[in-house]
Amino acid sequence: MNYSEKFRVKPGGTVRLDKIDAAFKGKHEDQASALGEIERYTQRLRELQYLLYAEGSRSLLIILQAMDAGGKDGTINHVLGNMNPQGVNVFGFKVPSAEEAAHDFLWRIHQAAPHRGQVAIFNRSHYEDVLVSRVHNLVPKKVWSKRYDLINDFEKNLVDNGTHILKFYLHISKSEQLRRFKQRIDDPARHWKISASDYSEREYWDDYAKAFEAALSKCSTAHAPWFVIPANHKWFRNLAVSQIVVETLESLKMEFPKPTVDIKEIRQKYHLAEQEEDAKNGKKPKGKNRK
Ligand code: ATP
Ligand code: MG
Repeated sequence: MNYSEKFRVKPGGTVRLDKIDAAFKGKHEDQASALGEIERYTQRLRELQYLLYAEGSRSLLIILQAMDAGGKDGTINHVLGNMNPQGVNVFGFKVPSAEEAAHDFLWRIHQAAPHRGQVAIFNRSHYEDVLVSRVHNLVPKKVWSKRYDLINDFEKNLVDNGTHILKFYLHISKSEQLRRFKQRIDDPARHWKISASDYSEREYWDDYAKAFEAALSKCSTAHAPWFVIPANHKWFRNLAVSQIVVETLESLKMEFPKPTVDIKEIRQKYHLAEQEEDAKNGKKPKGKNRK
């Protein structure tokens, strides 16, 4: 099944999260049957990212947003972490520092946008400024309500400069969140992940859902689409995200750049064929530059 199409929020559409099944599994019954496919996509993801890096002309920005315990870290670890770290940067956006807060909300975001040839992964993003800021009235409505257009314009600017943008909302149900919080409480190795705000923010679930619905509806554009990924099953989330990133990169029809040197000339000048033959026959190489 083509998940790029199925989970993409159509521009101008209205998202109702309670109508979307967070436990969707597609054709696979369980993780075991999906593993082969996930493995193939993550392997291909690595190859394509290497091509993007080699090409050095375009870039990819992946934005992850979710309710607490929605699986942003897991997606980075299990899917996106398979790419070559040389070409990938991960940025986590927390409560803005004093310096960040003294600038416009996109200032810190723009600095983290990917260079040509690079992938940037945002663990939270400028969308916090229409999510937590809206839910908790951190700024007045007349300020946050203008941000949707500002975000669309900002993303358009990045896209016009060669960045491809994919935005994933990892959709878990409220009961799945509680189950994950309980797992953290029960497992000492996960206690560090718990913050008091996880439980207090849970009380605002419906407000967050409304804020997410507005962001997903207003900011899923042709140039920078949002995808709502059913994420109760971590393996399904990994399958869907990896497939969508792979399909996007495949669609770029990337090619390795032409060599900047004349390969034939190098082969002749340094007698490479002879050297290889000598090495194969166990002969000691002769000549001054042949060690
Ligand atoms: P995460 O929960 O994303 O895995 P974490 O647990 O390491 O990250 P937290 O401190 O729990 O770190 O999460 C970051 C916090 O920063 C979230 O509560 C988020 O809402 C908040 N935050 C991020 N961006 C902004 C912003 N622009 N304005 C206000 N709060 C923000
Ligand atoms: Mg947290």
